[in-house]
Amino acid sequence: MKTGWKTELLLVLIFFLGIFQLYAQPNDRWHAGSAKDLNGEVLTLYVFLEATANPWTEEEKQVKLIELSIAQQWLITQANSWDVPLEFSTKPLGKAASLQLENIPTGSGSGSERTDWAMEILKKSGYRNARQAYRKISRQTGFDNIQLIIFTKAGGISYAMRYAKNFRKRKFFMESVLLYQCYDNDAPMPVSAIIAHEILHLYGAWDLYTTYAQTADRHQKAQELFPDDIMLRVGYELNDLKVSDLTAWLVGWNNSEQPIFEWFRPADFRQ
Ligand SMILES: [Zn+2]
Repeated sequence: MKTGWKTELLLVLIFFLGIFQLYAQPNDRWHAGSAKDLNGEVLTLYVFLEATANPWTEEEKQVKLIELSIAQQWLITQANSWDVPLEFSTKPLGKAASLQLENIPTGSGSGSERTDWAMEILKKSGYRNARQAYRKISRQTGFDNIQLIIFTKAGGISYAMRYAKNFRKRKFFMESVLLYQCYDNDAPMPVSAIIAHEILHLYGAWDLYTTYAQTADRHQKAQELFPDDIMLRVGYELNDLKVSDLTAWLVGWNNSEQPIFEWFRPADFRQ
């Protein structure tokens, strides 16, 4: 069936547990968009989004940056356990630490959230479009792997915005994570685990829990086979979580493909 890019974007939203992602196309596992390969040196750009009436405090920003740093350190440890070198360089996107928007993005896991925030943020930061921003930043910094973390001063369900090869480059090439400050219902939010989970999505990882894109029997099977995988569950105890064989294969860390892996490939089960 031939579908337009818009339909495709909508079809690929996956969500659960306060997290969802844009799922890319088969065979585009990890070399599409600005976040190409979770291997070697990765540049993390960050920006703080806020409404004028409700700005981030300096202290809140520091907390988020520490949570980001913990997530990145965990990813480095996981990569190293697969004999993959990994380093992050973390910088603000622009000179101003915060960006004010009239409309703060909402994320309720409805599947109809906007997916072009990176484009709007990059334009507000002086770039022409997402592809031009990537090229310029890549030239200036020497990084091929670039990801954008958008800390949003609002409550909601965080999500990753992944690029796939048939998406429009100008709008979607810069891959990003929209990270909310908290959940809507004030439930505690394991931020570092969520950041690591969402970053893994940018490089090809699949959700392993029940969503419309994953069936309950797959969730159950994942609990048997990969009980501690961060794509199955998040939590405060990062030491209890890991990147298991399947997720490591998806992000290119594990070359030993097992027949069962394909069985977990997300699909649209809403019908
Ligand atoms: Zn997810």
